[in-house]
Amino acid sequence: MSTKDYLEKDYYAVLGVPKTATADEIKKAYRKLARQYHPDTNQGDAAKETKFKEVSEAYDILSDGKRRKEYDEARTLFGSGVGGQRPGGGGFPFDFGDLFGGTAGQQGGGAGERLGDLFGGLFNRGGAGGSTRTTSATRPRRGQDVESEVTLAFTEAVEGTTVSLRLTSSAACTACSGTGAKAGTTPRVCPTCEGTGAASRNLGNFAFSEPCRDCKGRGLLVDDPCPVCEGNGRAKSTRTIQARIPAGVADGQRVKLKGKGAPGENGGPAGDLYILTHVKPHPVFGRTGDNLTITVPVTFSEAALGAEIKVPILKGMPVTLRVPAGTPNGRTFRVRGRGVTRKDGTKGDLLASVEVLVPKTLDDKSRELLTEFNTATAGDDPRADLIQRARSE
Ligand SMILES: [Zn+2]
Ligand SMILES: [Zn+2]
Repeated sequence: MSTKDYLEKDYYAVLGVPKTATADEIKKAYRKLARQYHPDTNQGDAAKETKFKEVSEAYDILSDGKRRKEYDEARTLFGSGVGGQRPGGGGFPFDFGDLFGGTAGQQGGGAGERLGDLFGGLFNRGGAGGSTRTTSATRPRRGQDVESEVTLAFTEAVEGTTVSLRLTSSAACTACSGTGAKAGTTPRVCPTCEGTGAASRNLGNFAFSEPCRDCKGRGLLVDDPCPVCEGNGRAKSTRTIQARIPAGVADGQRVKLKGKGAPGENGGPAGDLYILTHVKPHPVFGRTGDNLTITVPVTFSEAALGAEIKVPILKGMPVTLRVPAGTPNGRTFRVRGRGVTRKDGTKGDLLASVEVLVPKTLDDKSRELLTEFNTATAGDDPRADLIQRARSE
């Protein structure tokens, strides 16, 4: 993410949340949009794919407390009128580089330089995704972030697992080491932009920057193109990696694996890998946060008289649960430590809810005993005050 990205992009607007949104609200908004725009459900719809990338990028920043703070600070500083310029709010196609970089002399000199340093320090993470290549082609570049997804069995998600992922990403062409020039030749500096890759255009008070037309923003020209990559310096690389999915991931969660994205170029760091996880439902267990849930059938007499019943757990032998006499239908019992493993290694609980079953058929003996029970309890009308309460609203 570059400074320019931070200033041009309104990540809050992308996710449709207010600037005061909580981490939870941000996560909810992201999940909803990620589902809506996911490439898997929108085969070949380029607009939705772009939207998906925007949403993912916004979530990367806003879900990371530190980066969100940097982002907020950058936009606050910018909006407050740095160096006498007040270009307005977000979404403005304004090139910070023009203000504080090459044309600093026209814009107020020293102050601009200082701010350039300040931002350089604040955002010293290298350009992500190779979006605008305004730097020289030989400068270290961070590898692209790579998105992938995986479907996990319920138990795998609860306990963590290792998955094998086939990743396709764009990397430097190996034949020309990413220069785009045929082996034995080297690219030359573009004379139009003098290697900066950018051409500026003045519109009123603001200098807009656009990629140089002659070199398409690369800053370099290739006379003899590499036959393997046809001169663009990029190649698709496919690799298979083993990715460790931590215990406790939830359906729709994004797992970030730092440095597992596309390799960097010219000594730059690798990008990150984001894995969107889908979790298959379990036939018996459900899940709420760190807790597992289960519905356990009990007979009417077990609930009325009390009983010790066996309850299955996700892994291992069933545990014994003491159901006290007079347990109502739907009561939930907590079996400690039989839930989902948390980040700190502790475990959530198993929440077992009893469901009182009513026998569908009765043999003669049971019918006789239940009739007797009915006679013995004839005095207790469970609906005694129901009609009265219904009227006394
Ligand atoms: Zn150029
Ligand atoms: Zn090549």
